[in-house]
Amino acid sequence: MSDHMGGMVLHGKIDLPFSYSAGKTASRFFVELRDHQRIMGKRCPLCRRVIVPAQLFCKECFVETDEWVEVGPEGTLVTFTVVYHKGNHHPKNVPLAYGIIKLDGADTSIVHLLGETDVTKLEHGMKVRVVFSEKRKGHILDIECFRPV
Ligand SMILES: [Zn+2]
Repeated sequence: MSDHMGGMVLHGKIDLPFSYSAGKTASRFFVELRDHQRIMGKRCPLCRRVIVPAQLFCKECFVETDEWVEVGPEGTLVTFTVVYHKGNHHPKNVPLAYGIIKLDGADTSIVHLLGETDVTKLEHGMKVRVVFSEKRKGHILDIECFRPV
């Protein structure tokens, strides 16, 4: 702790476990990951975009999405970042990379871990493929990562 005229810096930690009802659309999205190893989006009836992960509403058109569409298992790495600073909130040890992936058949992108351990091999626009976790439990980490093809 510091008490100079610039103000004090206090350190703390908030641990905030929570539960909520995922709703019908997110529930099916996670069941598809867990039971069928499928990544599902939903199509907007107006703009026809396939939104991934599946959303109940299209945020552009303000209408309910109505058609389930399987996307992937491959996609394009739109962009990525490499993390060297460790933290308990990261699901893997550093260095690790997070990517924004546009799955084949999708019109929006998903943020997830990249499985390439040599992060210097990552490139914008490269093809990646989903790797599912061996033990799945209805969670976004049922997708273990995306790996370069
Ligand atoms: Zn729409």
